[in-house]
Amino acid sequence: MTLSYTREQHPSPRSDAEREAILADPGFGNHFTDHMVTATWNRDGGWHDGRVHPFGPIAMSPAAAVLHYAQEVFEGMKAYRHEDGSVWTFRPEANAARMARSAQRLALPTLSEEDFVGSLRALVETDEAWVPAYGTGETSLYLRPFMYASEAFLGVRPAHEVTYSVIASPAGAYFTGGLTPVKLWVSEHYARAGEGGTGSAKCGGNYASSLAGQLEGIDHGCDQAVFLDSATHTYIEELGGMNLFFVTSDGRLRTPALTGSILEGITRDSILTLAKDLDLQPEEDRITIDEWKDGVASGEITEIFACGTAAVITPVGELRWDGGSAASTAGEGGGEVTRSIRSRLLDIQYGRAEDTRGWLT
Ligand code: PMP
Repeated sequence: MTLSYTREQHPSPRSDAEREAILADPGFGNHFTDHMVTATWNRDGGWHDGRVHPFGPIAMSPAAAVLHYAQEVFEGMKAYRHEDGSVWTFRPEANAARMARSAQRLALPTLSEEDFVGSLRALVETDEAWVPAYGTGETSLYLRPFMYASEAFLGVRPAHEVTYSVIASPAGAYFTGGLTPVKLWVSEHYARAGEGGTGSAKCGGNYASSLAGQLEGIDHGCDQAVFLDSATHTYIEELGGMNLFFVTSDGRLRTPALTGSILEGITRDSILTLAKDLDLQPEEDRITIDEWKDGVASGEITEIFACGTAAVITPVGELRWDGGSAASTAGEGGGEVTRSIRSRLLDIQYGRAEDTRGWLT
């Protein structure tokens, strides 16, 4: 059965002037639109009670299982305004599939692709005025679907009642430095995920476990941390919220292979597809942290960048670790390959290039 929505208009939505002031400088993750979507699942009734309603606090029992056992998953994607005023999402079916995989790993119920995309549509239609205008830099409406165990029960088992919501946040650049290369810290003591764990699921716990490594990096003057495989501390996995790519002097575009503890980024997958258009040889394999250090020193690695929905593609600069550092390959605003992949992707997302692969909805 397809979820349908009752609509409850916000009694006091923000004025056009208030909204325009926010859209002029949205930042990332600071402001939210006037409405949200909510639906409920229970073991007997499945998904029901779809609502579009005013954005606001959630009333929940202090015994709700999510607050104790972190049974929760989420997604992140953007709606882009094109020059003709229309609004588009990028590969939402890939987010739907990833959310279903995450939900299965966390023993949560799944939403069909139709219901997932329908929930985004319901919110974007209601709050369309919050999608920033075309041509205002890299602005978009960030969409955050999430699902959590709302049942009030302290036993440890999959919840019998679950809530799904979507909120939306007008977004500017994720890193305020724009294309300034990010400095990365090698997290040698803290892993974000392990074999058989939840690393490939988009669940809150992975982000909580990445924060100590992230803080250690900040204490060492870095912007983000690079996480390694938890068993050997040898292989590069990813950042706390982005995947990594390496451009080599012989024209390869390398990224760590999906081992089960890496999040399968949709930007990552799109870049692997676009590589062929740019005469780059995409390669997914295991890459050691020593290959990074040596490759930068020898010139075999010519560019390094990180990618994800929020920050799109960000050049990676210096790498630091306890006792050493590897030089940046990025220059002021990232290398040529980094910038050309970045603009290719943005051109598709903002409707400036033909969407030959049917990625826009
Ligand atoms: N890795 C992690 C841990 C992430 O949180 C994200 C952001 N979702 C990514 C990679 C990039 O994924 P995507 O390209 O789908 O945004």
